[in-house]
Amino acid sequence: MSRSAGAAAGYRDGMEGNGRRVVVVGGGVLGTSTAAQLALRGADVTLVTEDRPASGASGRSLSWLNSAGSYPPAYHRLRMLGLDRYRTVAAREDRVAAIAFDGGLRWGEGVRESFEHQRAIGYPAEWLAREEVAGRVPGVDPAAVAPEGALLNPAEGWVDLPSLVDELVHDLVDGGGELRADAGRCALVVSGGRVTGVRTRDGSVLGADVVLLATGAAVPGSLAELGVHVPDGTTNALLVRTPPFDHRLRAVLNTPRVAVRPAPGGGVVLDAGWAEKEVVARDDGTFEVRDSTVEGLLREASAVLAGNPELTAGSCGVGRKPIPGDGHPVLGAVPGVDGLHVAFSHSGATIGLIAGELLAEEIVTGSPSPLLAAFRPDRFSSD
Ligand SMILES: Cc1cc2nc3c(=O)[nH]c(=O)nc-3n(C[C@H](O)[C@H](O)[C@H](O)COP(=O)(O)OP(=O)(O)OC[C@H]3O[C@@H](n4cnc5c(N)ncnc54)[C@H](O)[C@@H]3O)c2cc1C
Repeated sequence: MSRSAGAAAGYRDGMEGNGRRVVVVGGGVLGTSTAAQLALRGADVTLVTEDRPASGASGRSLSWLNSAGSYPPAYHRLRMLGLDRYRTVAAREDRVAAIAFDGGLRWGEGVRESFEHQRAIGYPAEWLAREEVAGRVPGVDPAAVAPEGALLNPAEGWVDLPSLVDELVHDLVDGGGELRADAGRCALVVSGGRVTGVRTRDGSVLGADVVLLATGAAVPGSLAELGVHVPDGTTNALLVRTPPFDHRLRAVLNTPRVAVRPAPGGGVVLDAGWAEKEVVARDDGTFEVRDSTVEGLLREASAVLAGNPELTAGSCGVGRKPIPGDGHPVLGAVPGVDGLHVAFSHSGATIGLIAGELLAEEIVTGSPSPLLAAFRPDRFSSD
């Protein structure tokens, strides 16, 4: 029996995927989520990816599940639906993915304004005085909290994307779809203004009626080769993972110098804007991370955790963080190339499940989702 939430809701009944052969390129959260939902809807779907699934940004993400910023209403709605889908998966008894909704805590510049905004739009938010923090958010050193206090968002959470991607691959295969991992850098095959397939590293071509390009940071470059402009704000990124140690942290912390969340197995993961700026991308496509950057991140994390534990790095995830130039997701049909769809987002963790669901529905039914209207790639056509 399929373990997917969609199957339980009976989506497959009466749907045969319109007999379309769909190839999804990219085994991150956006590609696997869409592929699993396509299989659930009866499409003939193959997921091809360069390496193993979750080898890109999804394998090294902080993946704080939130809609904490001042977003336009359509983006806020999509993110809130994203949180809702995670809660649905988290409630499944047979869930494999590590998902937690133990809240988010933030302090620092601009956070009070954020709190006012959140209260105005009904986003769950509480202002905590510094002395209230220890009692409400275990594992935090109150002395590190800003004197004016901190913003608690009790409905936020985090996901471990590699375990989610693993679960989605199972859903894909349970639903009759196929995974082709280690396929190398695949290329789109386009003829007469229509995508007709995907060429893998060994030169073989998977024929397709529809292709979803979900290759993370590689999306803008592949589209540019087809003459389609999607502005690219992609940055370097660094996630440091600690080995297990004794801590009580359950919430996601966003502090001026470091973001920290618990990780499956008992460690924590950390990132920071200043640290990603210190990552150097080499010409050969590899990345250099200085020891001082990692040590600095560990020091900053220790300073915000109760007891100020001495932290070590278990591993580092370094690479590119996919970011559309205008900061908003790029989802749906690609203008000028029939049959080609795209999924490219900065908030791929938060919107991963809902975006996959809506994209799969569009591909199978041919009906554009109004929920994705603000995120179409054709918004850049006149740039
Ligand atoms: C440090 C960090 C922190 C983050 N924090 C958050 C957060 O707090 N909240 C949040 O919502 N999001 C966060 N994100 C963003 C989120 O993790 C990403 O948006 C999401 O993982 C992107 O998923 P994806 O499927 O688009 O891309 P990826 O996970 O990068 O997957 C793309 C896949 O495509 C493959 N591929 C690329 N080119 C080809 C090709 N030509 N042929 C075949 N395969 C190819 C790659 O190998 C890769 O496996 C963070 C990301 C990072 C790196």
